[in-house]
Amino acid sequence: MKITGIELGKLRVPLKTPFKTALRTVDHMEDVVIVLETDTGHTGYGSAPATAVITGETHGSIIEAIRTVIAPSIMGEDIRNLNRIVNLIQKSIFTNFSAKAAVEIAIYDLFAQSFGAPLYRVLGGGEPVISTDITISVDYIDKMVEDATRAVEAGFEALKIKVGKDLALDIQRVKAIAAAVSDKALLRLDANQGWTPKQTVMALRELESSGIELEFVEQPVRGDDVEGMKYITERVSTAVMADESTFGPKEVIDLIQMRGADIINIKLMKTGGISNAINIADIASLYDVECMIGCMLETSIGVSAAAHVAVAKSNIITRVDLDAPSLATLNPVQGGVTFDNAEIRISDAPGLGIENIEGLAMLDPGRVAAG
Ligand code: MG
Repeated sequence: MKITGIELGKLRVPLKTPFKTALRTVDHMEDVVIVLETDTGHTGYGSAPATAVITGETHGSIIEAIRTVIAPSIMGEDIRNLNRIVNLIQKSIFTNFSAKAAVEIAIYDLFAQSFGAPLYRVLGGGEPVISTDITISVDYIDKMVEDATRAVEAGFEALKIKVGKDLALDIQRVKAIAAAVSDKALLRLDANQGWTPKQTVMALRELESSGIELEFVEQPVRGDDVEGMKYITERVSTAVMADESTFGPKEVIDLIQMRGADIINIKLMKTGGISNAINIADIASLYDVECMIGCMLETSIGVSAAAHVAVAKSNIITRVDLDAPSLATLNPVQGGVTFDNAEIRISDAPGLGIENIEGLAMLDPGRVAAG
């Protein structure tokens, strides 16, 4: 099974309600999709959203990186040589993690297809059903309480509450949501870098002393403020999770060794794909540091790949935050992984199991072929 070409396209899906964090508000998701062609007729799929405020990438940069650098570096390669191909992808260009992730996802899809097995099984197996939390966007208190109540009624057992806009109001938001649903769901807080270290300690002490139990607080301070993360981790009893503070395995090692976080949030778009997500899970496992697997606001192609990784590494990936598909008005991807509110179920189909992607608009000129 040799790589003969790559086609690029775009997939746009509207959201049920606008997604609001401390950093941005958006009403749809849009991915760059790659379709990897082989000489055996097998097709591999991968995708990447543009999350400029986090990874520094745009659709334009992702398309250009894949078309002119990453794709040519793996053209003609035999899919059986997975490690060699992954190495070529990772070394082809500096950073550009989402672009690399899109290509790696398609490569792993094909690698698993070459064994006729679902990807999670090729990665080591596991129970192909996982349960995700759901995001409660930052908003007026009443709206957040309403969204939280509705999520619990829909069967979600963990809520990820977005805060980080205004400290005093954030504390009120969490208290109101906790009063409404804390006996029915785990509460996770994601401040998306919106607080300072001292504000975080103050807010958490206030919440802790009012008897509110949070499962964790995610990335309360700026991603590059690892000293701030350490400051908080030392001072509060609530577990602290690193999201934007860690991209690849080296940052995870540094952060764990300096005790800058209790939990690591792994996202394929930060790690540059599946290979480093696995590296991080294995590193964290050595230190007994649990991980969550997360996603960007992205379609179910990349999220499916993350679900396969979560199943295969469930020993250490103990939390799942793969709610993007359930925030969308429809799932344009047929086959493979089913997203049914909190439940994510992987089928027995080979690879990622993707049969068809509705509404995929191919780019012109978007094709790179083996020369
Ligand atoms: Mg986050």
